[in-house]
Amino acid sequence: MTAWLPDLIYTDGKFESGLAMMVDERGVITRFSRDEEDLKIANRLPGRAMLPGLVNVHSHTFQRVIRGRTEHRTSAEKDSFWTWRENMYHAANAMSPEDIYRAARIAFLEMVLSGITAVGEFHYVHQDLDVARAILKAGQEVGLRVTLLRTAYVRAGWQKDPDPGQARFLTPEVEKFLADTDSMIASGARIGVAPHSVRAVPLEYLRAVAEYARNRGLPLHMHVSEQLAEVEACIAEYGCRPVELLHENGILDEKFTAVHAIHITDEEACFLGGSTVCACPTSERNLGDGAVPADKLFEAGAKMCFGSDSNVQIDILEDARELEYHLRMNKLERAVLDGARLFESATKSGAQSLGSDGGKLEAGAAADFFTIDLNDCSVAGADLESLLAHVVFSLERTAVRDVCVAGELVVRDGRHRLEEEIVREFGEVQRGLWR
Ligand SMILES: [Zn+2]
Repeated sequence: MTAWLPDLIYTDGKFESGLAMMVDERGVITRFSRDEEDLKIANRLPGRAMLPGLVNVHSHTFQRVIRGRTEHRTSAEKDSFWTWRENMYHAANAMSPEDIYRAARIAFLEMVLSGITAVGEFHYVHQDLDVARAILKAGQEVGLRVTLLRTAYVRAGWQKDPDPGQARFLTPEVEKFLADTDSMIASGARIGVAPHSVRAVPLEYLRAVAEYARNRGLPLHMHVSEQLAEVEACIAEYGCRPVELLHENGILDEKFTAVHAIHITDEEACFLGGSTVCACPTSERNLGDGAVPADKLFEAGAKMCFGSDSNVQIDILEDARELEYHLRMNKLERAVLDGARLFESATKSGAQSLGSDGGKLEAGAAADFFTIDLNDCSVAGADLESLLAHVVFSLERTAVRDVCVAGELVVRDGRHRLEEEIVREFGEVQRGLWR
């Protein structure tokens, strides 16, 4: 039994002081206590507040290698998601399995240093199962929970010739895709399935993957309506929009997470009311995708969560505040969604989407948390009532001090034990890729 005693703990929707959190040897929270004996034996964390670990629902770790390498014009006409994608394919095809592993390690490192304790890795860059296992190993070494979202990728698009840039992503036969997924599950990995998009997976294949996920109770994730061209292609092929297609085919349920869901109608927002939507605002603004209509989705009953996606920046709280700021800019209003709702999206709803432990500090839940320095400039002066809003709208990464997964500290005082090695090895990858 271990006990933790920070100045403040965020539990059950509020900050509490003088409360010790008791954790058993499996890393599960057993109870909270004000008992003097418990307080006496507790690990004190003075000047710190403890919050449930952040959950990053949607990441492509390999894209970390193109950070800062695509921020210039490549086309005489205009740059877009599609010109960015060419650069991304170029990097994906140049990376060795070792490069992919090292990119995963640095992305996961940056995640834990920012308070993330669980991630969904939407993995499609290389369909060899050894590469998938190497990504899981990277997660284990860094110390965060990884749910591997195995991605089905079948075609360039309806009536489109195969794109050589995608050759490494392809899973042409559904039987093999599902058998490979079975074998990953049998090895004990946390797995979800992820048909890449309506564009990349034809309907029959998509239905087979959805049925497989439902029979096994697995999370089902999919890119949905990120770009207008995807919506237009769906209308041309099926005569309806992507979310309409998923609705008509019975694919939307509580295990379904639509990633992006930007270009949707009000009716489509209603269809997503029983599902989860993963917004990735830092990536979406970088790619010029547009803004997720989170107000309409919440109104319809959908849950929201967040992902770092292209990993151009890894900061789930920045995603949370950006979701709100996009709504303010579009509606010319303030305070559209409140801070507590944004924080719940960044934690509890994210864990639910991945079927992962963590996301809340309560008895019976995993001891996945991060602490912040209450004297960090970015939150200094907060009182009990305003601290959560300080965290959601203003916290800087410099304030994150300790990060704990299943009761084990993976970051202490803002440092990770493998930091130097991981950074050095990633530097080698980049020097090799960008000669
Ligand atoms: Zn994505």
